[in-house]
Amino acid sequence: MTSCKPPKAAHNEPGAHDVHSYGNPDRARVKHIGLDLEVIFDQRTVKGTAVLTIDQFALPAKQAKREIVLDTRALQIDKTEVSPDGLKYTEGRFDMGKSDPILGAPLHIDLAPDTKFVRVSYSTSPSAAAALQWLAPEQTAGKEHAFLYTQGEAILTRSWIPLQDSPAVRVTWDAHVKTAPGLKAVMSAPNCLDANDCHFVMDHPVPSYLIALAVGDLQFQATGPRTGVWAEPSVLAGAAAEFSDTEKMVEAAEKLYGPYRWGRYDLLVLPPSFPFGGMENPCLTFATPTVIAGDKSLVSLVAHELAHSWSGNLVTNATWSDFWLNEGYTVYFERRILEQIYGKKRTDMEAVLGYQDLQDELKSQPAKDQILNVNLDGRDPDDGMTDIPYEKGALFLLEIEQKFGRAKLDLYLKDYFDRFAFRSITTKESLEYMRQHLFAQDPDAALKIPVNAWVYQPGLPATAPKPESEAFQAVDTAIAAWMKGQTIDTAQWSTQEWMHFLRGLPEHLDAAHMKKLDAKFHLTASKNNEILAQWLLMAVRNRYAAANARLDGFLTTVGRRKYVKPLYAAMLTDATGAKHAVAIYARARPLYHPITQTSIDALLASRAEAK
Ligand SMILES: [Zn+2]
Repeated sequence: MTSCKPPKAAHNEPGAHDVHSYGNPDRARVKHIGLDLEVIFDQRTVKGTAVLTIDQFALPAKQAKREIVLDTRALQIDKTEVSPDGLKYTEGRFDMGKSDPILGAPLHIDLAPDTKFVRVSYSTSPSAAAALQWLAPEQTAGKEHAFLYTQGEAILTRSWIPLQDSPAVRVTWDAHVKTAPGLKAVMSAPNCLDANDCHFVMDHPVPSYLIALAVGDLQFQATGPRTGVWAEPSVLAGAAAEFSDTEKMVEAAEKLYGPYRWGRYDLLVLPPSFPFGGMENPCLTFATPTVIAGDKSLVSLVAHELAHSWSGNLVTNATWSDFWLNEGYTVYFERRILEQIYGKKRTDMEAVLGYQDLQDELKSQPAKDQILNVNLDGRDPDDGMTDIPYEKGALFLLEIEQKFGRAKLDLYLKDYFDRFAFRSITTKESLEYMRQHLFAQDPDAALKIPVNAWVYQPGLPATAPKPESEAFQAVDTAIAAWMKGQTIDTAQWSTQEWMHFLRGLPEHLDAAHMKKLDAKFHLTASKNNEILAQWLLMAVRNRYAAANARLDGFLTTVGRRKYVKPLYAAMLTDATGAKHAVAIYARARPLYHPITQTSIDALLASRAEAK
């Protein structure tokens, strides 16, 4: 019989209750998941079994029901079985609760007092598995083979694995994945190079959202002893060249905050429908191909995802209200890596662009959503994934750096990652630790930092640092000259300088001015997605029809939400644009991942309501 005290874990502390999981880890807690899955492309289904190794804790006298509660979303459950030893299973009773549009449905499984293993036989829904995107061959680079990938963060893993889908419940896992001949499965674990019937083992405890799978025509190229790239064959060489600094980044990160603990660090380049820039799946970051610019100008994304190997994957937000612990720390860390590899000029520019994003976000978000420790009760955790946790969180750490000095903050962070390694923690715990182990060293410096305002209040405190860039001052001068009709020298400009230039032009430009910009700088033809997306936004705002074909082509191939959402939003501001948006979206929607679909559906719905 397994009956012991619950482990001292974040979820048991006040304020750590995860409102986005039905799980009951304080009664029965999953600690390992063994998956045996088949990926069936022609049925758009993942089918198989999940064997959950569990700990049971003492049942309060009043509570008669001995059960484990799992999260599911649109899963077909065929059978549940329980076992004391993992060898002999008996069929158990289960009950599926009412389904909620955000949370999915709780799966209650009856346990015996001696149950240590629970086996669930299940399959995913062909149409409603929100983590999965099934791509037809024509949606891939090679156009010959189908492709599948998963995106678990925040609460979508439950749509392909029945489990306690809370970042506070960490599990080790292993998986057998069977798929069509000729295709390669890779996962967020050490990956084998040759066999296509692979066994994956993740022996560090990870939160559920970091379990990830991709299947496609994938090949590998090394970029260093510990680093490499997985991609479709036609993309591989370009991707490996673009990401050739990855090994150096791992070394720079280790120098800052201690050893990289996950073995390999590889990147998987996905088809362009991937909804995010990157996803920090352990051992194997999933990345959008839109950052392959040919000049490494957008590889801050790699620094970001790599930094998550410490902030996020090693030390994890216990609930989605603590998301800034993942992202704010990571943005700060990302820029420290960038500074080591590409120097201060580039990093300053990136910090200023981030600050501009934050200012825009502060203008558009209601006060309650400008708070780092945001309240997400009754809401989709996706609602909290704005620039606030990223850029406001990073700025908070930057202020600490300024008041305490880099050396002290670096020592503190190194210790913090070590102290909480492989644990999930709350905002409250992290601040308590900071008070004891950093602020106590220099109470005068600590007094100057308004922690409460940073974490629990909207907007930015008056003491907030404002990043500055000398290179951008030169661009500001160029903008003024351009607006006076003078010629400007842009020959040496980086992507970041172009971004600052475009953002710095007046929001409303007449047709002649747009035409002049395009003729001079060939912006509609830009091969850099960051510059192109910014230019297309200006084109939509100013009804510059000459960019319409490129806009159409962009929106019907790229599904990265950061790019497509502002473009649709800008189109929806008048009737003509709205008609255009609806027409493009009718063709584009099937190409997007469910995450991007949900966001654009909501945009169109709010426009329809407003009418
Ligand atoms: Zn991130």
